Amino acid sequence: MNFLEERILKDGIVKPGNVLKVDSFLNHQMDIGLMEEIGREFHRRFSDKQVTKVLTIEASGIGIACFVAREFGVPMVFAKKSKSINIEGDVYVAEVESFTHKNRNQVVVSKKFLSPEDHVLIIDDFLANGCALQGLISIVESAGATVEGLGIVIEKGFQMGGRVIRNLGYHLESLAIVDAMDPETESITFREQPVG
Ligand code: 5GP
Repeated sequence: MNFLEERILKDGIVKPGNVLKVDSFLNHQMDIGLMEEIGREFHRRFSDKQVTKVLTIEASGIGIACFVAREFGVPMVFAKKSKSINIEGDVYVAEVESFTHKNRNQVVVSKKFLSPEDHVLIIDDFLANGCALQGLISIVESAGATVEGLGIVIEKGFQMGGRVIRNLGYHLESLAIVDAMDPETESITFREQPVG
């Protein structure tokens, strides 16, 4: 079991509706020592890639992506949720359906911060149905930039996102993959992953 799986078993809370709460250490209160370890682990897993930018989506990806960008020594850019319907032409736009809030948001990245020369590592906290990642991939592609890989802290392997993204041929690394979880028994089962 890796450092993250151990922490999820210790402090994660399984909620009804396929939601795993990790807000005591990952996406509300953040354990900075753990964030550093997550940053180092993504850097190790993508060390063969020429990353020029780390891209995530607000809000909960931002903290994690900062630590990853720090390891690579590159800027971190986050897609902003935009309420404005009349989006001007100086941004890349994607439509993303929120798994946790069940609403649709347009997310935008300024054209100033992504260009065809960029090699992008996409980072997020969770992967469920893959909507957030697909939105971020489409923003990178609109910019004519290259997706070098995608790094997820917790993938819920019983939802379809991971399969869809891997079938599209992208290099996806998830630090923990939850294959099953039960709110009644509080049990969490992780997928066995090769130790690097
Ligand atoms: P997807 O777009 O893959 O369906 O969902 C991913 C997004 O939804 C992530 O950015 C994350 O913020 C949120 N999310 C999905 N599942 C969970 C979950 O079980 N727990 C928490 N805390 N967030 C989740």
